[in-house]
Amino acid sequence: MEDKRHISYDNPYESTMNMRFIRKLPIPRDVKQEFPVPDPLREVRLQNIRRIQGVLSGESNQILLIIGPCSADREDSVMEYLTRLRGVQEQVKDQIVIVPRIYTNKPRTTGDGYKGMLHQPDPMGRPDVFKGILAIRELHMRALTETGFSCADEMLYPENHRYMDDLLGYVAVGARSVENQGHRLTASGLDVPVGMKNPTSGDYSVMLNAITAAQHSHTFVYRNWEVESQGNPYAHAILRGYVNKHGQSLPNYHYEDLVRLIDMYEKKNVTNRAILIDTNHSNSNKQYLEQPRIAKDVMYQRKINADIRRYVKGFITESYLEDGCQKPEDAHIYGKSITDPCLGWEKTEQMIFELAEQV
Ligand code: PEP
Ligand code: MN
Repeated sequence: MEDKRHISYDNPYESTMNMRFIRKLPIPRDVKQEFPVPDPLREVRLQNIRRIQGVLSGESNQILLIIGPCSADREDSVMEYLTRLRGVQEQVKDQIVIVPRIYTNKPRTTGDGYKGMLHQPDPMGRPDVFKGILAIRELHMRALTETGFSCADEMLYPENHRYMDDLLGYVAVGARSVENQGHRLTASGLDVPVGMKNPTSGDYSVMLNAITAAQHSHTFVYRNWEVESQGNPYAHAILRGYVNKHGQSLPNYHYEDLVRLIDMYEKKNVTNRAILIDTNHSNSNKQYLEQPRIAKDVMYQRKINADIRRYVKGFITESYLEDGCQKPEDAHIYGKSITDPCLGWEKTEQMIFELAEQV
């Protein structure tokens, strides 16, 4: 797609804002017309979504595993990762529904640093959102076309969701966004399951309120439209650990944490109650090698407590081709995360096979 939209906005209506309007971006409909999803792949996506819904509703006894790099920084290494994951998915298909993470928008704690492929399609280059929009659609499209996966992404900017809504299989609302009304209302209008994370403070009620809001219908403004959402019956909880008032990371995947959340969840007027455990972030304190141990620990809790088994439906794990992470400014190692540290490929494979044995 050619960029023909350089427009000068030196007019009085824009002059009170302290920013430069660089160019007008193509609207989602234009991008989709140019890069449409072929009909057979639309059907593949719907089947993928049905599988995920089956786990969340309890219709299926499989577990859900959302897994992949913290950020999708490069198309080549992400596609290699997905191709390997497809091979593993075939081997564990009776036990685990795998949904790869292709996270193209990254929230940053202080606002600085790599903000994801949407902003920087070349992680070493300058921000270019026009190219970024095309790059993220292309990557999600390649994932579906070449590996049959409809992937997960974080909905960091609700208004951008429509550039990829016909490709995704799962959406997460992050810890820094979950209290935001715009995210909650948009989630209520998505046709894919949405995972609501606990906020960084760890407050369960914020997450449960987000689930309630997302499951109900709302009228609101979305991309210049007045819209009415239908409510999303598959909005559910994700526990990612939390940060206390002293800035220390603490886990919330332990037995008592789960029992307390289940007790609060029971009292909410929502459906398809489900919890996923994020094995990295504050749950591991970014000690990424702990992730298989954390997942194993939670699988044991499912064995000894029927409520936990009924509620806890799976995991979100940060994994890539190589162990650990590197700084974006000297990111020379192919397949190594430039944001949060990830579990490398061999350990990932082993973790998935071990999980399958415990389902
Ligand atoms: C992530 O999944 O990489 C992430 C940023 O998660 P959280 O919103 O829980 O910090
Ligand atoms: Mn991360």
